[in-house]
Amino acid sequence: MNNEVFVHRLLEWYPLNKRDLPWRNTHNPYIIWLSEIILQQTRVAQGLPYFENFLKNYPNVNELANAPSEEVMRLWQGLGYYSRARNLHQCAKDIVEKYNGDFPNNYKDLLKLKGVGSYTAAAIASFAFEEKVAVVDGNVFRVLSRYFGIATDIAGGAGKKEFENLANKIIPHDNPGEYNQAIMEFGALQCVPKNPDCENCPLKSGCFAHNNQMVENLPVKIKKLKIKDRHFQYYYIICGNDLIIKKRGEGDIWQGLYDFPMEESDKKFPSDPDNFQWIKDLKGFVTSIVNDSENTYKHILTHQRIFANFVKINLNDGFRQELKNWADRKGFQLVSEDNFENLAKPKLISRFLNDEK
Ligand code: SF4
Repeated sequence: MNNEVFVHRLLEWYPLNKRDLPWRNTHNPYIIWLSEIILQQTRVAQGLPYFENFLKNYPNVNELANAPSEEVMRLWQGLGYYSRARNLHQCAKDIVEKYNGDFPNNYKDLLKLKGVGSYTAAAIASFAFEEKVAVVDGNVFRVLSRYFGIATDIAGGAGKKEFENLANKIIPHDNPGEYNQAIMEFGALQCVPKNPDCENCPLKSGCFAHNNQMVENLPVKIKKLKIKDRHFQYYYIICGNDLIIKKRGEGDIWQGLYDFPMEESDKKFPSDPDNFQWIKDLKGFVTSIVNDSENTYKHILTHQRIFANFVKINLNDGFRQELKNWADRKGFQLVSEDNFENLAKPKLISRFLNDEK
């Protein structure tokens, strides 16, 4: 089967099988960009409500650019990969300030935007402006690798280049945007990672992997992510209706979100509360301590596993001013539970608070 037939079959398959998603059938670059940023490394079912919520709150790039960053982070809460939210907001501001509120209309200029890599730039350029530039995501790697029998490691730079070159050779002049959507959707629905339904596939007669019993071996992905384990000992410090919280700084996960004072180790913490640093600090104010060291919250990120334990420390309400002074010195904040509810926080913290209710 030649390239034209491959393209033709995908374009035939797509309208009959595509999911009806709100960012399809539009040429509005803002909507396309928003959906692509939200859906990176996120399943459609999980990302869809976030996309709808963002679009409802910020129907255009100006509204998003003018929104307070706390509010944007709050709407993003639970999606993970928080640097994407910060980049999304910065990108919206740049578009308003540097481009007069209009998205650049070509791949090269789109690539200059904050948080927009080659995949997103190709998606916006082709879906919104019909530029002939191929998108290459995990779904596209899989379809091309299996169909054309390419065994180059997709995790390596050389492999990515090879797939990009091939994808850009195949993409048609007419309807490049529709073709890009078709091949991605085909990878997501038909040529799926495990047990694809090859018998009912419109590409099977020309598919190298199917014809050579290599479906399970392709694509090849050699590089494995090194997973790091991190143990967090959180201090949930309560004084009346107030809590001690901390805004997370730069250079680590969850930048700009709020959590609690904590210590970190690469091993599990001892279960004896007397050994904990913050409890020693607060000793004079403590009325009770609850240390549920058996109840560990596990949170998985792409390259780290977080194991979190919480020790709940109730403080005497009469020491509020001393506590406030202590919190100021440590760079913490004393806020009411209601105010904390409105701040953006990691999913792990929300899970813990829900269990506390
Ligand atoms: S025949 Fe199987 S492996 Fe080949 S493209 Fe179709 S679903 Fe994918």
